[in-house]
Amino acid sequence: MDHTAYNKTLYACPMDPDVIKEKAGKCPKCGMELTPLEPYEKKHGEHTGHMSMEDDFKKRFFITLPLVLIIMLLSPNIQKWFGFSLDFFGKNFLMFVIGTFIFFIGGKPFFKAAKGEISTFNLGMMTLVALAISVGYFFSVAATFLFAGESLYWEISTLISVFLLGHWFEMRAVRGATGALNELAKLIPPTAHKIVRGPAARVTPQFNIIDVKTEELEKGDRVLVKPGEKIPIDGIVVDGESFINESMVTGESRPISKKKADKVIGGTINNDGSLTIEITKVGRETAVAQIMDLIRKAQESKPNVQHLADRAANVLTFVAIIAGISSFLFWFFVSPHGAVFAATLAVSAIVVACPHALGLAIPTVTTVTSALGARNGILIKDMKGLEIARKINYVVFDKTGTLTKGEFGVVNVVVAGSTFAKASADKPAAENEILRLAAAVEAHSQHSIAAGIVNEAKKRDIKAPEVKGFKSYPGKGAEGMVEGKRVAVGNKALMDESKVQSLGFEISDEEAKGKTQVYVVVDNRLAGVILLADMVREESKEAIAKLKQMGIKTAMLTGDTKDVAEKIGKQLDIDTIFAQVLPDDKVNKVKELQSKGNIVAMVGDGVNDAPSLTQAHVGIAIGAGTDVAVESAEIVLMKNDPEDVVKAISLSRKTNTKMVQNLIWATGYNVLAIPTAAGVFYKSFGILLKPEWAAILMSLSSIIVVFNALLLKKAKLD
Ligand code: ADP
Ligand code: MG
Repeated sequence: MDHTAYNKTLYACPMDPDVIKEKAGKCPKCGMELTPLEPYEKKHGEHTGHMSMEDDFKKRFFITLPLVLIIMLLSPNIQKWFGFSLDFFGKNFLMFVIGTFIFFIGGKPFFKAAKGEISTFNLGMMTLVALAISVGYFFSVAATFLFAGESLYWEISTLISVFLLGHWFEMRAVRGATGALNELAKLIPPTAHKIVRGPAARVTPQFNIIDVKTEELEKGDRVLVKPGEKIPIDGIVVDGESFINESMVTGESRPISKKKADKVIGGTINNDGSLTIEITKVGRETAVAQIMDLIRKAQESKPNVQHLADRAANVLTFVAIIAGISSFLFWFFVSPHGAVFAATLAVSAIVVACPHALGLAIPTVTTVTSALGARNGILIKDMKGLEIARKINYVVFDKTGTLTKGEFGVVNVVVAGSTFAKASADKPAAENEILRLAAAVEAHSQHSIAAGIVNEAKKRDIKAPEVKGFKSYPGKGAEGMVEGKRVAVGNKALMDESKVQSLGFEISDEEAKGKTQVYVVVDNRLAGVILLADMVREESKEAIAKLKQMGIKTAMLTGDTKDVAEKIGKQLDIDTIFAQVLPDDKVNKVKELQSKGNIVAMVGDGVNDAPSLTQAHVGIAIGAGTDVAVESAEIVLMKNDPEDVVKAISLSRKTNTKMVQNLIWATGYNVLAIPTAAGVFYKSFGILLKPEWAAILMSLSSIIVVFNALLLKKAKLD
């Protein structure tokens, strides 16, 4: 049995937060060893795999640090600056030995990663770092043994030191960004109180409770959840009543009342009551596991700007190499300042141009965004969808179940005289007969109207008979054979199609106003009309108003009549109303808006919304809708709250702002940094950038990018 989705160890690259794999191995981007993300909360002080990479940099930093200080003391330049002199026989050789140690021990992680980059033909940051320190090192070795000249040992050593420090800090920051999946996995409590029949069950039919690991639970098991505890896994309440805080999964902050037969979600917190739960989902099927899956997919799905960033990073890598080579050539041949000077500048230029900030600019933002979204009940399935969402200027809402609650109540049953001529003398009896036949057919339908009719029959204690040959007409109704009679239930379109003789029957407008009319036809004759009403969600009005404020137009799409649609449309102040739209035609309405140059989002929940969700620029499935709807959407809202559409757009806008800021920063700083490092400002202003300062700048620019992305964590969506 697969229990593994949320407790399986996932592997992430310590440097590229968007790389998360199910198997251990090398990062396809930088070739670095992937480190495991820990599934469960670890005891304090116990180091996780992700830490060890970070620790490696830290360890190497501290091991090399004293040697770096010694080599600085030995450097003639430093001595000159601080006005002391330290010279002895074999000093150069000692510097060579120490420098070599630092080069190999401190540089090892960079060489390894560079090898990875080179072997995947993905030259980047690590290749440049390795190149820079190698150039400096081999130049120094040559200066020690081959020709008389100053070495660059201390420059290279401090450079390595700063790189180690920078990577250590950077990884810590990236760890903060990748933490989302860990946080989610931590929602699932490691143990549960399982209810089993005690060994003495035959004597006393008493239940025993044993604590088991959550991952060992199976479907059908029963668990006890005490007040204040977490629900261990998805299930259904079989006993007890309580309020549950589901905010961590749905974003809904109000506690939700739960009683027998209600669904509960693993990882949510039980407030005051005690509940017995029967497990309905394990492993991959659980809500938390699916959310984790979606987040992972979202992180893998690249927004389009990522390609731009990648291309820019590639260009920058070559710019770095060219800047390095040309500054050496220039300062050696064109404006000779000696080999040391030329080599130093070459190293600086390569170092400062390392496109690492650029590589981090987008992934750190998308990582934080998907976590922030999840915390607000907004699951982003495709980053490209979220990317476009900021440009949306038309939101199309499905009516039933989206703007309205989709819980139809029967308001009235109107009996059509002719068919039930005899019964019509006894009106309630005729009404019940109509409901009885209609409910029989509707019992087989998925539609929320059908549920309303079936419920009404139940309420009136009417037992619905069997149905044969049930057929559903999406967007119109349904029919079947009941007790030898052909019973059709549906709207006007269905009536027109089957050429029902209405025998001049009309219901008064007053009665029907704003209600959904469902015709019940028995053997091709109208028996009566069931009038149903749905309730508009309180949040719908607010959502539409907010969208208006943002300059976004709204439309409502429904298969219901113009009459009903217009009533709701007025109530909510919706710009465009498409009524009596057949399911197949819904997608055309979306296309119609798109062809007028609008960027259209479609919000829906039903199976028949799926094509329009796909067609729209951004498909938003609401209320975790039907599976088909979720499958077709780019964004999934956990709650049935249209206001979350506004939040999703706001998230998109905030995300985009961050991405743009990061890109501008990550590329922009090079405009000044590369020329400075290459010595462009040296002759006129005497400004130079030492390799170690270049390294500090480079690391700092990466860290700034990561922290800028992390700021998004605190953003409020509205
Ligand atoms: P919406 O677009 O509002 O979600 P649908 O496209 O699912 O609605 O259905 C459109 C119309 O078709 C409904 O308003 C109703 O009149 C009719 N209809 C669809 N299915 C049924 C059914 N099972 N029973 C009665 N009427 C139905
Ligand atoms: Mg619908």
